[in-house]
Amino acid sequence: MREFLEIRDKILESDNIVVVSHVNPDGDAIGSGLALTLGLRKIGKKVRFILQDKYPDNISYLKDLKSIEQYDETKEYDFNLVICVDGATDDRLGATKALLKNRFVINFDHHISNTMYGDLNCVTEISSTSELIYKFLKFCGIEIDIDMAEALYTGLVNDTGNFTHNNVTTETFEMASELKRVGVDNSKIVREFFNTKTLAAIKLLGKAMYDMEYSEEKKLVYYFMSRAELDRFNGRKEDTEGIVERLIALKEAEVSLFLREDKVGVIKGSMRSKHDVDVNEIASIFNGGGHRKAAGFTSELPAEEIIKIVLEKL
Ligand code: 5GP
Ligand code: MN
Repeated sequence: MREFLEIRDKILESDNIVVVSHVNPDGDAIGSGLALTLGLRKIGKKVRFILQDKYPDNISYLKDLKSIEQYDETKEYDFNLVICVDGATDDRLGATKALLKNRFVINFDHHISNTMYGDLNCVTEISSTSELIYKFLKFCGIEIDIDMAEALYTGLVNDTGNFTHNNVTTETFEMASELKRVGVDNSKIVREFFNTKTLAAIKLLGKAMYDMEYSEEKKLVYYFMSRAELDRFNGRKEDTEGIVERLIALKEAEVSLFLREDKVGVIKGSMRSKHDVDVNEIASIFNGGGHRKAAGFTSELPAEEIIKIVLEKL
């Protein structure tokens, strides 16, 4: 990667570094951020990994999660370099966006919708930010230990759907192979991170699968989950993770749309595409983004309105 040299030099001349990532952090945000944090500490850097939101429970097998701090706006943070991982825009960083002000910003990401908000941007089409960080750590000659390897493997599993998406390349498999050599228990990670669900998550998935709607004309399968439904099962945001991917399993469907009411009047949207439809483009109508085949957004429009707009666009 062309930018690696400049980024490494910048890191080498900085002593106090902060790593940040996006709101509602997923396996790639945490995996890439944690591996980078641990790796830079190995070469003697003081690094803090700061997030707006707490990490999800299903990732608690990762060691050193205590390295992750929750952002506190009343605190003063003393550092000079901030490294953003997996954040397509500075707004996606949530409250931690404030940490970018008047500081040198490095932006490591893999979203096509990235706005290049850093002073140095390393943005490329690759399976995950974890794969990008893996390459960067190797470039710097930093040895990947088992704790970093587990974090990176979690990021890979998260963003490739456990190596099922077409963002997987031979290099992705080579990376997985090397992480396995370091000692990663791939079966444990997939079981705990991917295939273990709370009762609420299973009930909510069932509800969505049972009551989903399908537009034959537009080949869109969609479902809106209201706050009341989430509350009925005591569901948290993370309990709806993966529903959008299950919906698109419908044989005839080309696109899936899952809407979740996060709070009254605020809807989080997730979209997936099977073949040619560019859902990044559709998410951008609502100021969101992501990738061609997986994208998301947050909107204050009513659910019916969002569905209408998406159907019109398809
Ligand atoms: P998910 O649907 O799993 O939340 O996200 C799918 C992809 O879209 C991920 O790569 C994620 O980073 C991106 N994404 C999700 N929500 C948003 C959003 O509100 N804004 C932007 N720019 N990207 C998003
Ligand atoms: Mn990612």
